[in-house]
Amino acid sequence: MAKAVDLKRPLADLAAEVQTGKLTSAELVEASLARLKETENYHTVLEISSTALQQAKVIDNRIAAGETIGPLAGIPYIAKDNFLTADTHTTAASHILEPFKAPYQAVAIERLEAAGAVMVAKANLDAFGHGASTENSDFGASKNPADPEYVPGGSSGGSAAAVALGQACFSIGTDTGGSLRQPSSYCGVVGLKPTYGLVPRYGVIAMGSSFDSIGPITNRVADAALVLDVIAGRDDRDATSIERVHDGYRLSDIEYTLSGQKIGVIKEYLGDGLDSSIKKSIDQTVALLKSKGAVVEVVSLPAVKLALAAYYILVPAEVSSNLARYDGVKYGYSAPEAENLEETYRLSREEGFGAEAKRRILIGTYVLSSGYYDAYYKRAQSVRTKLIAEFDAVFGKFDFLLGPTAPTPAFKLGAKVNDPIAMYLNDIMTVSANLVGIPSISIPLGEINKLPYGLQLMAPQRRETDLLPFANAVEELL
Ligand code: GLN
Repeated sequence: MAKAVDLKRPLADLAAEVQTGKLTSAELVEASLARLKETENYHTVLEISSTALQQAKVIDNRIAAGETIGPLAGIPYIAKDNFLTADTHTTAASHILEPFKAPYQAVAIERLEAAGAVMVAKANLDAFGHGASTENSDFGASKNPADPEYVPGGSSGGSAAAVALGQACFSIGTDTGGSLRQPSSYCGVVGLKPTYGLVPRYGVIAMGSSFDSIGPITNRVADAALVLDVIAGRDDRDATSIERVHDGYRLSDIEYTLSGQKIGVIKEYLGDGLDSSIKKSIDQTVALLKSKGAVVEVVSLPAVKLALAAYYILVPAEVSSNLARYDGVKYGYSAPEAENLEETYRLSREEGFGAEAKRRILIGTYVLSSGYYDAYYKRAQSVRTKLIAEFDAVFGKFDFLLGPTAPTPAFKLGAKVNDPIAMYLNDIMTVSANLVGIPSISIPLGEINKLPYGLQLMAPQRRETDLLPFANAVEELL
């Protein structure tokens, strides 16, 4: 029987107790494995690590020998299954990678390991990150912890549901158009998408390379800050990665004041389609912020209306290119009945990819083809440029932007799975941050019939150091 340990306690407290011998990493990992078993019906994970307990014992022994481990000493976590990891498979939830074992680990995984964290399982996702519900997983959908008839969101749905269920102390995932924030909103946890490039992408299966961001899903903002502090910073193996700030990202003890902070509420997110209860919560939050002395104004970013359309041109274009490497030769699935090279390519891709991956390959190759490039791809790129300019201008006047994370709480399993456009519309409030490359965080705001929904906060590029203390203050306020 695993000792009853509350895996939802602050990461810093748990790590300190492991370091001082009050708790052991083995106890934490055993509790995590027990919880994974107890709640396996939610189908949050695709594989459980067979070496986690062993790794935990190694950490305990090192501590017993007097060693100081790191800021995440002994803490069990779950990684989305698009991170390359040593002891488990890495499938991206696609049949085409089902047999794949990575020859090296992702930078983020290396850094977590070096800080003392122990990976216990690989989380379910929409295959390759394509989706907003985890229903596009080739291995079956995950379920929402608040109600198993509902989706947990996506594509990091397994990672978000796992944290909400207390299966591990935190998880990590990727966000190309909302995949950390929207499932966090649906599951009632915190999801942080950092500035593009702040966490190196090396060793993470690419979706849209100019959009993909790596970040944590946690129970509170302070935990997100701590995990970001561990995984952030330039690595030469990702040329797009950027330097971390000198003092790091952990929250300081210095008293934070909301008074005088300038906050813009994105007008385009408050219109038709936004659930009226969520709208009411946003209004209440604005009133609360004003009562604390913050300056809050509604601000318009007209190009935001075009963001979703631009996203669903640019991302499939990058997806079609990134998925070209799965050819039945280099990695993963290879169609056994193929009789020549041409057939190996065709059949492996036909049998290995799911419907959504194929849809994106088709859209992507179409918008990049010579006859349509100017009409679609180029115009979508101009929308991206315009959006960047509009956000820049608005951040000249405001410190932060605020809005809902998604227009509604979670929907029922099966409700949108046959309607790609309805599914894509879930991303309407999250894709802009990826198009612009800015940091954005979703924190729990409220519930409708027990189904959670989140509040989204954004800051200019590289300003996690402002965003995290602000989000922490808002979290306390709520
Ligand atoms: N739901 C969005 C999509 O399907 C975003 C996915 C993601 O961020 N990985 O593209």
